[in-house]
Amino acid sequence: MSLLAKFAAVDEARRALGEADPARTVIERLESATLGIINGAPTILAGTNNYLGMTFDEEAVEAGRDALTEAGTGTTGSRMANGTYAAHVALEAELADFYGYPAAVVFSTGYAANLGALSALLGTGDAVLLDADAHASLFDGCRLCPADLYTFRHNDPASLDKRLGRLGDRARNALVVVEGLYGVLGDRAPLADIAAVKDRHGACLLVDEAHSLGVVGAEGRGVVEEAGVMDQVDFVVGTFSKSLGTMGGFCASRHAEVALFPYASRPYMFTASPSPATIACTRAALRTLRARPDLKQRLWRNANRLHQGLSQLGVDVGEAPSPVMPVRLQQREAALAAWNGLLAEGVYVNLFLPPAAPGGGSLLRMSVSAAHTDDQIDCIVAAVAKVMKAIGASG
Ligand code: PMP
Repeated sequence: MSLLAKFAAVDEARRALGEADPARTVIERLESATLGIINGAPTILAGTNNYLGMTFDEEAVEAGRDALTEAGTGTTGSRMANGTYAAHVALEAELADFYGYPAAVVFSTGYAANLGALSALLGTGDAVLLDADAHASLFDGCRLCPADLYTFRHNDPASLDKRLGRLGDRARNALVVVEGLYGVLGDRAPLADIAAVKDRHGACLLVDEAHSLGVVGAEGRGVVEEAGVMDQVDFVVGTFSKSLGTMGGFCASRHAEVALFPYASRPYMFTASPSPATIACTRAALRTLRARPDLKQRLWRNANRLHQGLSQLGVDVGEAPSPVMPVRLQQREAALAAWNGLLAEGVYVNLFLPPAAPGGGSLLRMSVSAAHTDDQIDCIVAAVAKVMKAIGASG
């Protein structure tokens, strides 16, 4: 039983969490995009990625229902075999049009998009330079490839410059990998500076816009749009599972070669394609995202309201409001108590314990949705005030 012996330590760590075990928190029923029933009680959902509140978008729900009736429950196969329907191809064209790029490829999840794009791009002798705080899927994608992996300091173009400089001529075979808006701390990559550095060394740049699609940029095209680097960035990857409220991922590029990724990407080939209903919901949600800039405005208004409320309590939520708001707590016990306390007050947030929190320590990740009401934001602030007082911490 030696293979199973390691689970004794896993079980011990899990038991140490006591009641505060996010992995065992069940949303028993949903009342809306921002209200669920947890432990039998109405609970404000302030730890999702439902930035635009799109999970109950009426057109997306209707499109999904129609697709279920017309095309069935699943494709039963890979994109390369029987799993490419006209709707998958149409969504790829719509994504390419959204970014103004020649092509885009759809994957089954955002995780698969990162693994798929990185494994298509990175071969033996190539190098990949990854921001140290990048998402696990980007690390996993790099590990899947024979390329040499180097990390550089989070959001530090000078650190990237130094690393690329050390590669010499090999920098021309290097891929720089960053996120647009980081999903745990809510900070943005300094993309204009990073793009300038990679151009100087002749490298390529891939930006994961999982948390910025529909959230940042005049048209919702992410930090690449806001930073004015759409024609410098080489590859944009993203997910449908956050602002679009569905499932799936994509890679879009100004390089037409992206259309050849399917022939060189095991995470594209060896998994079933998204179901017809998922694709129909995603296409409808993308149409809503493009037609309803008011959702992004509402999201930022809510982010400002929460930021202001928490700042007034003396909670350190950083200088700039963001739809992702981390509350840092140095003591693991304080974080556990705060997470439990908030749930008891009817507010669900995300818990990051060492070593998961970037920069060390523990944190509560709060996230805002366009669908939160003013009342809900005020309830979140009131719950934080009560819980922080109870645990004797102000930040
Ligand atoms: N990239 C980033 C930055 C993410 O935060 C996530 C999900 N948390 C993913 C990729 C993976 O996306 P998905 O959940 O759709 O597989």
